[in-house]
Amino acid sequence: MLNFERNSYLAINPAYRLRNDKSMIIAFLLSTEAISYRYFDPQAGLVASLLNGKRTIQEVIDILKDVCRNDPAEKIESYVQYALESMEKTDANNPPFLLSSNSTSIENCIDYDPCEFIVNQQDYNPIWDRLGIPIQLLVMITGACQTNCKYCYSDLTNLRSMPIIPKEEWIKIFRQAKENYKIQLLGLTGGDPWAHPEAALIWAEACKLDLLFFLSTKCHVDYSDAKLLVDSGFLSKVNNYGIRRFQIR
Ligand code: SF4
Repeated sequence: MLNFERNSYLAINPAYRLRNDKSMIIAFLLSTEAISYRYFDPQAGLVASLLNGKRTIQEVIDILKDVCRNDPAEKIESYVQYALESMEKTDANNPPFLLSSNSTSIENCIDYDPCEFIVNQQDYNPIWDRLGIPIQLLVMITGACQTNCKYCYSDLTNLRSMPIIPKEEWIKIFRQAKENYKIQLLGLTGGDPWAHPEAALIWAEACKLDLLFFLSTKCHVDYSDAKLLVDSGFLSKVNNYGIRRFQIR
């Protein structure tokens, strides 16, 4: 159990990202290994957006009292307590959602703008059904592949002969996904993602856009391409947390 004393500091574990999904606030795991998310009603989402590791619980309550002046103070206090208790419950296989500290602020946490987490009343849908915006952009960068596995699905389709989409188009798509839909995760299918003639340049740009992805290839990767990726930030943590991986088989 976490300490929910009024003078303790709370933060959302940077393993998760908060997002306004139009009708609900969602928190998803920043991972390409498993898609995992949970959702909050608008009030709990607002509370979550204020937990930046630098505010005490009392400060969060005071902000909400100031914003919701028409609501009785006791109602706000009990709602914050309820929201925190619900956030504390996490799937046993996932990292804890909340971090807490009794005495000092918590470093390197994400500072969200609470205004981004206001859900319009007409959009709010308590009978939550499905995500409004995908968490991960699934990308088949090319159907081509330099290998010839017997079990290859591409051989049963026209995937291998699909026209090549140039890198400029892919970069435009990635940028739009990030800016318009706050996409941070890329899932790669194929074909072999390294078989695209401009593969190294495409993945280097994806690194610069701070997108998290897992590259797996059977192609030859030469030193200059590997260096380009490293120089573009492949090894840097995504959003201060996520780690990209590159599997060469
Ligand atoms: S590596 Fe994948 S895409 Fe390439 S031949 Fe094998 S199964 Fe097909």
